[in-house]
Amino acid sequence: MFKKILVANRGEIALRIQRACHELGVKAVMVYSEADRDAKYVKLAEEAVCIGPAPSPLSYLNMPAIISAAEVTDAEAIHPGYGFLSENADFAERVEKSGFQFIGPTPDSIRMMGDKVSAKQAMIRAGVPCVPGSDGELPDDPVQIRRIAKSIGYPVIIKAAGGGGGRGMRVVHTEAALVNAVQMTKAEAQAAFGNPAVYMEKFLQNPRHIEIQILADKYRNAVYLGERDCSMQRRHQKVIEEAPAPGIPRKLIEKIGERCVAACKKIGYRGAGTFEFLYENGEFYFIEMNTRVQVEHPVTEWITGVDIVRTQIMVAAGEKLPFTQRQVQIHGHAIECRVNAEDPYKFIPSPGRITMWHAPGGPGVRVDSHAYTNYYVPPNYDSMIGKIIVHGDTREQALARMRTALSETVIEGINTNVALHRELMVDAKFVAGGTNIHYLEEWLSQRQ
Ligand code: ADP
Repeated sequence: MFKKILVANRGEIALRIQRACHELGVKAVMVYSEADRDAKYVKLAEEAVCIGPAPSPLSYLNMPAIISAAEVTDAEAIHPGYGFLSENADFAERVEKSGFQFIGPTPDSIRMMGDKVSAKQAMIRAGVPCVPGSDGELPDDPVQIRRIAKSIGYPVIIKAAGGGGGRGMRVVHTEAALVNAVQMTKAEAQAAFGNPAVYMEKFLQNPRHIEIQILADKYRNAVYLGERDCSMQRRHQKVIEEAPAPGIPRKLIEKIGERCVAACKKIGYRGAGTFEFLYENGEFYFIEMNTRVQVEHPVTEWITGVDIVRTQIMVAAGEKLPFTQRQVQIHGHAIECRVNAEDPYKFIPSPGRITMWHAPGGPGVRVDSHAYTNYYVPPNYDSMIGKIIVHGDTREQALARMRTALSETVIEGINTNVALHRELMVDAKFVAGGTNIHYLEEWLSQRQ
């Protein structure tokens, strides 16, 4: 096992990784920007290194600063968390070339999955079902673009090969709007991701977002840890996640889970990863793979009893997966609410000082957050300030626990979306289970 790991991230995931390190008896070096000096995990750190000013390009995206922080502290490995450099193949490569272990897949796997066009092609080869769409990148010729859309059938969605975070996508309903939409998405993709390549998919009308968590070691052992339902989204960003997915037959989950495991073995994948699917009319359609730990990993941890972050560290250190597929059993139901510093209905970010922070507790309640009373939420980063996760023997019990947890939660001084979560936890359709990816936006537009 490593003696020391550098945590190349911030916020709740930095604290989550620090906790996993401490549990394993590993020292954790925390890095922070000037805006994050007062973060909880920095205060708790045995070693912490300031890597630059508040703007991410100068700190959390600053590869030389992070690698030299690992060098000066004698860390052996780097955990990238999620976001920032976690899915940057060049970073993984530089980490390894500098003599550190990257806690994640190989640079080649990251590169293959980071380009959604090559990811889909790899999945088709590995026998994973994909959303019908263009055969790779779209050509420039308008005639060919129109022909492709016609064969797929409208509506279609134009997506950036290098896209992420719900950006770089455009839905097209008619041929008249097609070519212009492709050109606009290309220009946006170039500006946002430095890669103008776009591809086309059938736009599914009423799908659910279902994803499969996998874990793999360096010896081609791989398991899937069931599924998560992340259909409660706003602007393609997840707001509530749960596991298992209500109403999907276990047989279907097993079948797709086994496909994902086979794909991992085929491509020599190692570490934690997530296969994201749209699910409609009993069919799964692959959309992308995330080659890192995800925000919503705790719901899976809770229903399987597997510590995903701990296992990531263990397999990066060269250990074998400590369990087999047969040992992965699902117990009860878990729900996660993302707590964002924002207006609950207008979604305007609300950074600033938290004058009162009271987190919920009790049986089946877990709170992952770096915030505390008097913590200042910097305006420079993502607005998520924590996650409330609950577990129950049944979905009904989990919902009841979430309602209680949300009623106990007090956050003053800034706006948060806790009020939105309170409403959704008593919404009849959400409570019934199985809402699709458009449900939350429709609900929000009707509420106004
Ligand atoms: P990102 O990497 O930006 O998260 P994804 O490819 O994972 O992009 O898609 C994010 C979300 O966009 C999905 O969860 C879904 O809500 C919507 N989406 C993506 N592709 C399609 C599609 N073909 N049809 C309908 N919705 C889609």
